[in-house]
Amino acid sequence: MASHVVGYPRMGPKRELKFALESFWDGKSSAEDLQNVAAELRSSIWKQMSDAGIKFIPSNTFSCYDQVLDTTAMLGAVPPRYGWNGGEIGFDVYFSMARGNASVPAMEMTKWFDTNYHYIVPELGPEVNFSYASHKAVIEYKEAKALGVDTVPVLVGPVSYLLLSKPAKGVEKSFSLLSLIDKILPVYQEVVAELKAAGATWIQFDEPKLVMDLGAHELQAFTHAYSALEASLSGLNVLIETYFADVPVEAYKTLISLKCVTGFGFDLVRGTKTLDLIKGGFPSGKYLFAGVVDGRNIWANDLASSLSVLHALEGIVGKDKLVVSTSCSLLHTAVDLVNEPKLDKEIKSWLAFAAQKVVEVNALAKALSGQKDGAFFSANAAAQASRKSSPRVTNEAVQQAAAALKGSDHRRATNVSDRLDAQQKKLNLPILPTTTIGSFPQTLELRRVRREYKAKKVSEEDYVEAIKKEINKVVKLQEELDIDVLVHGEPERNDMVEYFGEQLSGFAFTANGWVQSYGSRCVKPPIIYGDVSRPKAMTVFWSSLAQSMTKRPMKGMLTGPVTILNWSFVRNDQPRFETCYQIALAIKDEVEDLEKAGITVIQIDEAALREGLPLRKSEHAFYLNWAVHSFRITNCGVEDSTQIHTHMCYSNFNDIIHSIIDMDADVITIENSRSDEKLLSVFREGVKYGAGIGPGVYDIHSPRIPSEEEIADRVEKMLAVLECNILWVNPDCGLKTRKYAEVKPALSNMVAAAKRLRTKF
Ligand code: GLN
Ligand code: ZN
Repeated sequence: MASHVVGYPRMGPKRELKFALESFWDGKSSAEDLQNVAAELRSSIWKQMSDAGIKFIPSNTFSCYDQVLDTTAMLGAVPPRYGWNGGEIGFDVYFSMARGNASVPAMEMTKWFDTNYHYIVPELGPEVNFSYASHKAVIEYKEAKALGVDTVPVLVGPVSYLLLSKPAKGVEKSFSLLSLIDKILPVYQEVVAELKAAGATWIQFDEPKLVMDLGAHELQAFTHAYSALEASLSGLNVLIETYFADVPVEAYKTLISLKCVTGFGFDLVRGTKTLDLIKGGFPSGKYLFAGVVDGRNIWANDLASSLSVLHALEGIVGKDKLVVSTSCSLLHTAVDLVNEPKLDKEIKSWLAFAAQKVVEVNALAKALSGQKDGAFFSANAAAQASRKSSPRVTNEAVQQAAAALKGSDHRRATNVSDRLDAQQKKLNLPILPTTTIGSFPQTLELRRVRREYKAKKVSEEDYVEAIKKEINKVVKLQEELDIDVLVHGEPERNDMVEYFGEQLSGFAFTANGWVQSYGSRCVKPPIIYGDVSRPKAMTVFWSSLAQSMTKRPMKGMLTGPVTILNWSFVRNDQPRFETCYQIALAIKDEVEDLEKAGITVIQIDEAALREGLPLRKSEHAFYLNWAVHSFRITNCGVEDSTQIHTHMCYSNFNDIIHSIIDMDADVITIENSRSDEKLLSVFREGVKYGAGIGPGVYDIHSPRIPSEEEIADRVEKMLAVLECNILWVNPDCGLKTRKYAEVKPALSNMVAAAKRLRTKF
């Protein structure tokens, strides 16, 4: 019985690739140094999988930036602005596309399906001359072979590649990206021929787009592409890999009718419906790569339950045609549990990172072939049992409180315009009130104090004193700038999710559980392992301290339940919404404590609400319903005169505007730097909505200081579609990553612009 891994993290167990990349980009090390680190990482990954006994080991899933960008390089689809003149694409052109250079900005980056990984979006048009310009797939295949490992080279499939692209600037809207298929296939054919010549016997095409809502025309492109490739693929075993969701019926039919394919890979963790499709019919003589080990999470596999799924599948596809696999590339999970010596032992026994998942895959394959590792399976069963019965996981009171929520939809009793009136009586704000989103610049000194306090090198007293001083500085600055609604600046927070996770029960933190987000950037999501509760108030001390320093309203600052959920590794033993409701209840307690402490404006950030949107439209409504409900739970109990703000980090939410309205916040601040026009339609809805809205008046992601005129101009444009009594004036996100030298003049211009416009009313 064979085992297979769809793909593996590139960063290395201690983020070796990140440091090598950044040092190269900073000019501190050579291209050769970077190549060496990369080669070492690849070799240790291959060796690890081969030692574990994996039969189908992937190659070309390593990347110095992104696998879609690698494919763009392979196809020679470099946008003209990067001045590439043909020949093999090197680091120069490659990293210019990824990150921009002194004269040209980077290509656009966007989310890879519903993961937190971001890929570089290919820009294609009728003019592109595709050519075979990066031999990376072949080079890496040969590299592994030289190390004695025969791998399965992995390519982003041609149809998914085109469907993940966007039309280049200036290309007509009516242009069909799929019309380029016959132009890119010859390059794929060349690659395949070289791989064959190098000795490859299998090839894997990742076609994750097959799990999306595709039309007949798009499905037709798969049939067309793979029949066109048929001749060149002959003699090779072809695996088409899908992941992240179940495959819709029509796509499944298309897929299994592809003649040149030898094996089909499915995500059986998220794609439970695919299991039924397979049971309903699977082509005889073909391989099924059964993705039973979750690549999206850090939980140890329930081996016994996977084994029973695999046994059932064996009955359908035949013993020799079943391959045990991961649900998707392990890119989306942490790298190696070995580097977590500080993690609690019991919790650790419930976890598996990429390195452990490879071992699980192989253990399952061996068990299927009658060589079950009894000790490994019983240790796993014991860990599963301890997770089920552990008192640290289950908190009856929390379970009951969350279960009791389902009956009601938790809306504030009064409608938003009456609430705003009640709030205005208390707050007495001018029209076009000014505010900021929460964080102020985090200086090195500030980070040092926090770090040393955590390491117990700085006493509690000194720490509180330092933070207090910082808050005072930020408060005074905002008063000088004459901002209307103040913030305390979040100096005590390292990260908007971690800060809350660390104070809530049910969360664990890793030392090295990094996951690639884009390029060299990684995130370290907390692990939610148990029922969530709030042992004590989390922000009241700092917020009331800050409020005591000023007569102006001081915003309480919280992260919302949906964002905490979406930026964590979430437990898989109950539905996501239940975990979200639990977090919502904890945040609700915090909101009410803040209100009791005299905080009259409370912002509940939901930066990641849209990120959690499921891949398939049919599932959107369900998600949005519980996500928005969770948000409302947090603040349904406050007085009319308490003003609830929320903040979201994206501008493109036309498609979920009704859900945003349904959140029923009093004021929403949003990013608005990239798509003014699209927002106009949202604004119009906003008018009907009647709640306050603060579309960011300048982009905080850039060091550029906007002028007063520019901001005034922008606000005026907004006023053309929005009533002046609901418009707020604020930057588009927190100021954490900026310098004071940028923040002071920018905010000063912002306040001046607001004041100038007020005189017109
Ligand atoms: N309140 C947070 C801050 O200002 C919001 C950050 C975010 O939206 N990503 O930093
Ligand atoms: Zn933001």
